[in-house]
Amino acid sequence: TRPSSPRKIVALSEDVVNKIAAGEIIVAPVHALKELIENAVDAGSTSLEVVVKDGGLKLLQITDNGHGIEKGDLPILCERFTTSKLETFEDLSSIGTYGFRGEALASISHIAHLSVTTRTKESSCAWKAHYAGGKLAPSKPGQDPAPKSIAGRPGTQITVEDLFYNIPTRRRAFRSASEEFAKILDIVGRYSVHCSGIGFSCKKHGESSMAISVASKATTLDRIRQVHGAAVARELIQFDASSERWGFRCEGWVSNANYSIKKTTMLLFINHRSVESTAIKKAIEQTYQAFLPKGGHPFSYLSLEIEPQRVDVNVHPTKREVNFLNEDEIIETICSSIQIKLGSVDTSRTFMTQS
Ligand code: ADP
Ligand code: MG
Repeated sequence: TRPSSPRKIVALSEDVVNKIAAGEIIVAPVHALKELIENAVDAGSTSLEVVVKDGGLKLLQITDNGHGIEKGDLPILCERFTTSKLETFEDLSSIGTYGFRGEALASISHIAHLSVTTRTKESSCAWKAHYAGGKLAPSKPGQDPAPKSIAGRPGTQITVEDLFYNIPTRRRAFRSASEEFAKILDIVGRYSVHCSGIGFSCKKHGESSMAISVASKATTLDRIRQVHGAAVARELIQFDASSERWGFRCEGWVSNANYSIKKTTMLLFINHRSVESTAIKKAIEQTYQAFLPKGGHPFSYLSLEIEPQRVDVNVHPTKREVNFLNEDEIIETICSSIQIKLGSVDTSRTFMTQS
């Protein structure tokens, strides 16, 4: 029943506001994991291990061998807008690292049980801390929330347990753990292909077999083979495109005319962030129409670097689509480079595989 006179307007508690904001940034486990992967990459890691339980809803654990976090930074680590990557608003346009808002860990701590074990190269031991609602918290009720020293290797391990435990409606909305696990494998696979020099592994908790395993020394082609299989890896051509006028460089691997799948696979990185672009995807599909049988689609991996001041990076974290200047011209240049490669490589490949 609706009241006939207005009710008094009151402010929501800070806790509720933080929870709502966090739930908007992290809609599914994969969104938390993407942020954690980017943090590990930012920290200069060469090894990144992911363990997942119940599609990430029960457990998401990521262990890296990066530069670690200073003990003195642990108390504010999970506060909103605390970051080591940005000082002024102007830095936003020239930022080279993935993170730039200092919101990921804070958000996770509002909607999950978060613990961090970290050790810098200078430190003689590791430190372990638990977080709740953006602040240091005791590991068990009544205990001291201060970080504890423990044995550990240099690097950082982040453990996220019981995601959405305090948002029961969201928690119940997940139908299948395997669907969430598939999304997790997708994002780990994308970064495994893109991040040269970094070894990746991903497995389910309690299982010994790896769902993804890529060595740090692996070449890009090896990485694609590991993640997407030999059938596509043997039909790939390398391409590049660039323009000083439009301020971009692009390189990548795309399938040739011998390869065709029902749905396009596109791994797209813009300035080393995994993103989506409907415009680029459509243009690539169109480029392949002349080369593939009807209903056939290509595989593509593109690493696009655009001058930072031309990219709108200050988008909301949930916005996977990015905006950049001269989109049409840049897409056109990339696609014509792919087209030339397809035209020249195609016949020789067909000839070679048939002989
Ligand atoms: P942002 O990445 O936008 O700075 P985050 O909330 O993701 O914000 O992380 C906050 C800070 O915590 C980072 O700026 C970084 O200093 C530190 N940090 C987070 N994850 C790691 C990690 N795996 N290794 C080292 N430092 C980390
Ligand atoms: Mg981050």
